[in-house]
Amino acid sequence: MSAKLIDGKKISEFFRAEYKLRVDRLVANGTRPGLAVIIVGSDPASQVYVRNKARACEAIGMHSEVHALPGEISQSGLTAFVDSLNANAAIHGILVQLPLPEHIDDRAVIEAIAPGKDVDGFHYANMGALVIDESRFPPCTPYGVMKMLEYEGIDIEGKHVVIVGRSNIVGKPQAMLMLKAGATVTVCHSKTRDLARFTRDADILVAAVGKARMIGGDMIKPGAVVIDVGINRLADGKLAGDVDFESAVKVASAITPVPGGVGPMTITMLLGNTLRAAEHVAGIVASKKETMLA
Ligand code: NDP
Repeated sequence: MSAKLIDGKKISEFFRAEYKLRVDRLVANGTRPGLAVIIVGSDPASQVYVRNKARACEAIGMHSEVHALPGEISQSGLTAFVDSLNANAAIHGILVQLPLPEHIDDRAVIEAIAPGKDVDGFHYANMGALVIDESRFPPCTPYGVMKMLEYEGIDIEGKHVVIVGRSNIVGKPQAMLMLKAGATVTVCHSKTRDLARFTRDADILVAAVGKARMIGGDMIKPGAVVIDVGINRLADGKLAGDVDFESAVKVASAITPVPGGVGPMTITMLLGNTLRAAEHVAGIVASKKETMLA
C-alpha cells in the first residue's frame, strides 16, 4: 500500500483564496485586516518565519507590520510596546515570535496581548476558552491539522487519535480540538512507557515531538492517517519530520509530507485568525459555509 499524500500547500492555497474574498469584502467596508509581528533579537530561523508570515498577509491583501526590536529590550519595554499595538485600531492581530531572549518572561509578554488580538491563541483567556469549546483563536498549528483533515473528508468522530507530544503550542491544544471533534484521545510524551503500544492503536496519529524520524512504519497501524507536525533540520541541511516517511508511507492510508504538510497550514490559520479578529471588530458575521472554511 502507498498512502495518499495530504498536500498542505495545495490545501493552504484553497483556504487563502477563500480568505482573500473575505479580506476584499472587509476592505470594501472600510477595514483592512492588520497583523503586527514582533521579533526580538536576531535569531535567523525566527527572521525567516516572520518574513514568511508578512508575505502571506500581503498576498491576500492584509496589512502587515514587522517590528524588529533589539535583543536587549527590557521586559517592561516589550510589554509597553505590545500595549501600543493593543491600542492601535489598524492592528487586529498581534503575534510575538517565540522564543524570546532568556531575560524575558514569555508568558508575561503573551498575557500583555489583548485577548481579542491574540491570533496565536496562546493567551490564558483563549487557552481557557479552547478547553470549554469556545475559542475564537485556536492555536494555528493544531487548528491547521483539523482543517487538513476536514478538507480531506477524514472523519474524526469515534476515532482513536494518538498525539505524541504535549506542548502548549501543539500537543495540548491538539488534544482539545480532537476531543471537541468527538475523538477518543491519547496524549503521549517523553515519560510514556512503550510508546509503540499506543501509536500502533491510533486511527489518526499526530506526531509533534521534534525528533527526526523517530516514528517508524512498524509503529503505525495499517491504514492509519499520519499527521507529521515535526520539523527537524538534518545534518545535510534537509528537513525531516518526526515520522520516518519512507517506511510510514507503505503502511498508512494518508500521510502529510515534511516539508509541504502541516507547515504551510500553520501560517494559513494565522491569516484565518487575523481575518476573524478583523471581522469581529467590523461587526461582519461570516456565513456558515465561510465559518466552516475558517
Ligand atoms: P516541544 O519540545 O515543546 O515538545 C515536544 C514534546 O515531545 C514534549 O511533550 C515531549 O515530552 C515530547 N517528547 C520528547 N521526546 C519524546 C519521546 N522520546 N517520546 C515521546 N514523546 C517525546 O516541541 P513543540 O511541540 O513546540 O514542537 C514539536 C515539533 O513540531 C518540533 O519539531 C517543531 O519544530 C514542530 N513544529 C512545527 C510547526 C509547524 O508549523 N509545522 C509548528 C510548531 C512546532 P515532555 O513533555 O515529557 O518533555
